[in-house]
Amino acid sequence: MAHKSEFIETKNHPFVGVKWPVTGSKGDQYYVEMVDYGFDCTCIAYRKCKHIKEVELKLKKMTSY
Ligand SMILES: [Zn+2]
Repeated sequence: MAHKSEFIETKNHPFVGVKWPVTGSKGDQYYVEMVDYGFDCTCIAYRKCKHIKEVELKLKKMTSY
C-alpha cells in the first residue's frame, strides 16, 4: 500500500519506480519504492513507516523544494 508524501510531489516524479534499500533497526533489509501516489515499503507496517520517512528525508536534503 502506498503512502502519500507530505512534502514530495511524487506524481510524475522522475524517481517513480526507483527503490531504495533501507536497513531496519534489527539489521533487516527493506525496500522503499517511489510510486505515483507516494511511497511503498516492503515491511509489514500498514501505516507510513520510518523506512519511508527516512527516504523522504534523504530526498528532501538532495533536492531543494
Ligand atoms: Zn517500512
